[in-house]
Amino acid sequence: MINGATKIVGVIGDPIEHSFSPTMFNAAFKSLKLNYVYVPFNVKKQDLSSAIAGAKALNIKGLNVTIPHKRKVLNEIDKFDVLANLIGAVNTIKFSSGKSYGYNTDCIGAVRAIEEVSKLKDKNVVIVGAGGAARAIAFQIAISNVNKLTIVNRSINKAKSLLYDIKTLLSANFKDNSKIDNISLDFSHIDLNFNHGGIESLHEYLKNADILIDTTPIGMHPNVNDKPVTTAKDMHPDLIVNDIVYNPQKTVLLKEAIKANATTISGLKMLLYQGAENFKIWTGVEAPIEIMENALLDKIK
Ligand code: NAP
Repeated sequence: MINGATKIVGVIGDPIEHSFSPTMFNAAFKSLKLNYVYVPFNVKKQDLSSAIAGAKALNIKGLNVTIPHKRKVLNEIDKFDVLANLIGAVNTIKFSSGKSYGYNTDCIGAVRAIEEVSKLKDKNVVIVGAGGAARAIAFQIAISNVNKLTIVNRSINKAKSLLYDIKTLLSANFKDNSKIDNISLDFSHIDLNFNHGGIESLHEYLKNADILIDTTPIGMHPNVNDKPVTTAKDMHPDLIVNDIVYNPQKTVLLKEAIKANATTISGLKMLLYQGAENFKIWTGVEAPIEIMENALLDKIK
């Protein structure tokens, strides 16, 4: 029941009607009897600044941030986590004592989804795509002790520039920036074996890959019969294939992976684990993962 003491969290984006997050978070709050409610807010590009100021004024406790605001919102935040700064995007805000704190939990969500089935240490990882989601995931993979990180993309220059950004930013000195939290993170030990290429060279990189992460929207509802980025003939049974598209759960790419006896990870897991991180940031309580996952599965049905 909503009452005078209910704390409000939510998501800002445009469009927002398709969001699975209200279902996931409200199920979690209900199961733990926390007096919170999660609300979707449709915020147009030009209204971002006033929306953040308004959220502060209304004593909203936290917000998720989605397309098209993830990058622009950095200008509106008082302090952000070092990873959000590296990635250059914020997907979670916490409001506390009149200040806003920005985080990027997409990156942690994706890596946690993979770590559920395999360690990342010493693995050869291939990421397809170089957009917003790829950027968050690639940064987190880069600091996860992998052996090799390869990024392939339709526009090869974007793959190249993403790798360039990762390399330069990991070696940058943040100590002068008062807006960044958690600057004690030390990336100096990271000595990455990087590679990049066009999407047409994916089959070559897959020969020695342990993990393939597809961050393109290919196969996303309603385009469920799109041509996947690769097929079963170029996969091997030891490969782990993670498609971050979560609707449908079994995408065209994951169907190919199943044919090749590879291990599959649905995009629903990334959504779930980034949600679990947000839940903890806002409430200070561990998220009820199973409840949240069941709520997502019910919704997708
Ligand atoms: P984005 O910034 O627009 O990037 C899309 C990337 O996919 C670009 O690198 C683009 O290549 C590539 N691409 C698009 N269409 C392609 C095609 N037909 N063939 C080959 N490459 C293609 O999008 P985003 O924000 O990264 O999101 C990507 C997908 O991830 C969306 O489906 C989104 O729903 C999903 N997502 C899932 C989660 C989760 O929690 N599971 C979280 C975030 C995003 P070019 O550079 O050549 O244009």
